Amino acid sequence: NSSKKSIRKRSRESEEEDDDDKVLGNYEIARLREVSRREYLKNREKKKIEELRDEIEFELSRFDGVKLTEKEEIEFRYKRELYELLKKTEDDVGRYRIPVAYDQEGVIDQKKRFAVATQRYGEGSSTRGMTEQEAWENHQAQKATVRFGAKNKKQASDGYEFVFDDLGGFVETSNEVETEKHRDRDSRTVAEKDKEERNMLPIHAYRDELLKLIEENQVLVIVGETGSGKTTQIPQYLREAGYTKRGKIGCTQPRRIAAMSVASRVAQELGVKLGHEVGYSIRFEDCTSDKTVLKYMTDGMLLRELLIEPKLDSYSVIMVDEAHERTLSTDILFGLVKDLANVRPDLRLIISSATLEAKKFSEYFDSARIYMIPGRRYPVEKFFNKLPEADLLDTAIRTVFQIHETEPLGDILVFLTGQEEIEKAETKLKLRMIDLRTKSSEIIICPIYSNLPTELQAKVFEPAPKGSRKVVLATNIAETSITIDGIRYVVDPGYCKLNSYNPRTGMESLLVTPISKASAEQRAGRSGRTGPGKCFRLYNVKDLEATTVPEVQRANLASVVLTLKSLGIEDVFNFDFMDPPPANALLKALELLYALGALDGKGEITKLGERMLEFPVDPMLSKMIVGSERYKCSGEMITIAAMLSTGNSIFYRPRQVREEYLADIARMNFYTENVGDHIALLRVYNSWKETNYSSQWCYENYIQSKSMRRARDIRDQLAGLLEKIGVELTSNPNDLDAIKKAILAGFFPHSAKLQKDGSYRRVKEPQTVYVHPSSGLFTASPCKWLVYHELVLTTKEYMRHITEMKPEWLIEIAPHYYELKD
Ligand code: ADP
Ligand code: MG
Repeated sequence: NSSKKSIRKRSRESEEEDDDDKVLGNYEIARLREVSRREYLKNREKKKIEELRDEIEFELSRFDGVKLTEKEEIEFRYKRELYELLKKTEDDVGRYRIPVAYDQEGVIDQKKRFAVATQRYGEGSSTRGMTEQEAWENHQAQKATVRFGAKNKKQASDGYEFVFDDLGGFVETSNEVETEKHRDRDSRTVAEKDKEERNMLPIHAYRDELLKLIEENQVLVIVGETGSGKTTQIPQYLREAGYTKRGKIGCTQPRRIAAMSVASRVAQELGVKLGHEVGYSIRFEDCTSDKTVLKYMTDGMLLRELLIEPKLDSYSVIMVDEAHERTLSTDILFGLVKDLANVRPDLRLIISSATLEAKKFSEYFDSARIYMIPGRRYPVEKFFNKLPEADLLDTAIRTVFQIHETEPLGDILVFLTGQEEIEKAETKLKLRMIDLRTKSSEIIICPIYSNLPTELQAKVFEPAPKGSRKVVLATNIAETSITIDGIRYVVDPGYCKLNSYNPRTGMESLLVTPISKASAEQRAGRSGRTGPGKCFRLYNVKDLEATTVPEVQRANLASVVLTLKSLGIEDVFNFDFMDPPPANALLKALELLYALGALDGKGEITKLGERMLEFPVDPMLSKMIVGSERYKCSGEMITIAAMLSTGNSIFYRPRQVREEYLADIARMNFYTENVGDHIALLRVYNSWKETNYSSQWCYENYIQSKSMRRARDIRDQLAGLLEKIGVELTSNPNDLDAIKKAILAGFFPHSAKLQKDGSYRRVKEPQTVYVHPSSGLFTASPCKWLVYHELVLTTKEYMRHITEMKPEWLIEIAPHYYELKD
């Protein structure tokens, strides 16, 4: 196979392949990348893009077939990335220039600088532009012979539109901002010490009062503006007051990245190594030790700890932080810790929130005392866009440049929906910088989202060098969970990703949803922390709902119900929910757990259910793992489960059409004999393992080595848990039927049958679903019966990760669920 060969062309001897992260260390890699990035950005300003591209092309050709040192290797890779970017720039130049602003070199009409080409992706789609996901789906759909309603998305002509003259595109809203007295922080120099910085936090002045209240009240609700110091300071105060002598202080966070970043900050403030006195615990990653007394963790992890230590005896204080987020796990924790307070009079509970929902919390916790930390907030001017925009991302980027051109220095925070959108924004920003000849020293782009590698997360907190400004591209994370100092401008397109669940069909998906008024206020507030701020809203706040529906009312409850059952809560319908979920969502969860064999006919947890609970994954996935014992392929199942848990980031998808083609070919190598997505993932992992976990191999096969390493980590942990429940680690890689049956043992409720029109219908639900274009089976001849891992709703209800199966297996594996009809 010649195409295969060409992909492997650059391969070196396998023993020489090395994991570059190990050789150089993350820091060194980040540094090297930064150096070469700066160098190129610098050059890019001076030279024509084509020249630069030719230069890089030439340099790249030098590397071809040559044996490289590790450093060269990384340099090579980075140049390739740049090359791709430049190629793309070149492609874009033809239809993406702003001619009026500077047709003559250097002559720039400031006013016309914001003239922007009407470039709308996804015309004809709703008010939002097409997401990357949709673009991908469309792209795949067009490639396939079967067409299903692909949109005709002809690019807009070459026409250009003036969007803003000055700030004219935006209308100032009524300025209802409180003008509170505030202390001036600007006189402080950056060099001042951490300690002093700590003492400057609003919370500091109330330290003693707070400690007294905590001593006197078993439950205390604390409200304070984001950034006032609740998360980082309160646990430290408690330690200073001696609470850690009686037990640990646990502080929960709804987000993994918040738990990690806050823990690392506190460790830094205390001058200790992360993982010693201060640690964090998130799913599949425990960074704590016997010494740990301040423990930050996700709310989900504390739920799991309750399974092992029902009275949380090793804790003296539990702080349920970011309570206003009302995540599913936080809501369940509320009910559990409230109960716990009765049996553990010595335990202190702190419920902390950034918004004024405090009353509700207080009422729920039997009129608990509320303490408000007086905030320090500067006035925020709010503007909103009077013109509805077809492409919000594009508008957001233009607004960034508008701020950059017209407003004094200060960092800009842009709220985006997720990693995909952030990456897209980053590319767009870079391209626009080239277009506008913005000096690369003027704007420093800092993305922040939960899957961002740890070494890059720190960058967001570093102050921008003198004379430049940071542009932070963040998800909801920056709304309240983490505070970035120095933000003066907020650009808010008004959307976030929320999960939603339909109990009737069992359909679960992440949906891009308008934010609530409460969120809009929080986001705006981010700009007024260290000085007066400005918030640019790309929507009208009048159109928003007041608050977000709590997750418990829009989530799949199977996992939570199993946890509650294991904790001895028999009647889940009468659990003390702050806001009860719909009854049919609870019913659906009970039904599913019964079908999986985790609960018996009386609704009690079974032996199997207890074993499933050992695994920190969803019930269907844990059933797949535990159930694999019977098919003698537990080794394969934990590999597949680990690969599925990395979050759809295994295959690297380049943005270049030609590269994309090569990537597709590389990917299809794992799909020979139409094995389906699960087994393809298994093959990817096993092939990687055979190369001794080489990242060079990943590179050649368009596989993301970071995700692979994460999969290996997760797999190791799952293997440990298998041992714990006494399941032997057996491998049976060639018996594909056994592997498929094991998958089905967990996922039988997710089976679907081919329809005449080429769509699929779920076997037990009246629901039409489609093969996701990212599936290896998308272009293959359709199989009659299949089992899928999950449904995602984008333009349609798509099944993601699919494997063919035989209908008689359904009867064999789940006779109580599927009865024989024909
Ligand atoms: P709150 O929980 O009340 O929102 P925090 O305790 O999170 O406030 O933040 C207090 C201060 O600590 C803020 O000024 C914030 O910028 C700083 N901070 C928090 N985490 C980090 C971090 N990882 N790196 C640098 N600064 C941080
Ligand atoms: Mg906080």
